[in-house]
Amino acid sequence: MAVLSIRRFGDPALNEKSLPVREVDHGIRDLIKNLAEIMYDAQGIGLAAPQVGVLKRVFIFDLGEGLVSYINPEIVWRSKKTEEEEEGCLSVPDIKVPIKRSEKIKVRALTPEGKKVEFRAEGLLARVIQHEVDHLDGILILDRMSKAERRKTLQQMSGFAQTVPQQEILRRGSHD
Ligand SMILES: [Zn+2]
Repeated sequence: MAVLSIRRFGDPALNEKSLPVREVDHGIRDLIKNLAEIMYDAQGIGLAAPQVGVLKRVFIFDLGEGLVSYINPEIVWRSKKTEEEEEGCLSVPDIKVPIKRSEKIKVRALTPEGKKVEFRAEGLLARVIQHEVDHLDGILILDRMSKAERRKTLQQMSGFAQTVPQQEILRRGSHD
């Protein structure tokens, strides 16, 4: 696999809808290994495949209890009750913005072993899963903000983009 790096806001891959995985094979497990390395390097808590330019419905996260990976995840139910909390994103660096998400969700997905799972999630877990599923649908936290907040954030970010060269995020050396 080619060396992968985190795509940042402005990269068209981040606005694409990713495709379902047809077979959970060792290519997918390799992809997950790559994603994990990149996520831990960047000290993120979650990463979706399109964030490294791979348009497949795969994401990973680690909320401090080890790596979890899901393939073809579907949120089959969302509570009407929402919560607003600050979120960050490795593709939209150095900002944290309040985002409203369903408090509870029900999820169906495949594990890296190809096993079907269905579970309920709430709190941070529900938030992370909704954030990552958004990535698979080409939606960024910026797209979930009000117009005014978005404008303000983009102004902050354009200042940031001028001072930090893109190359600085390519911290990973060659991979495989
Ligand atoms: Zn993100």
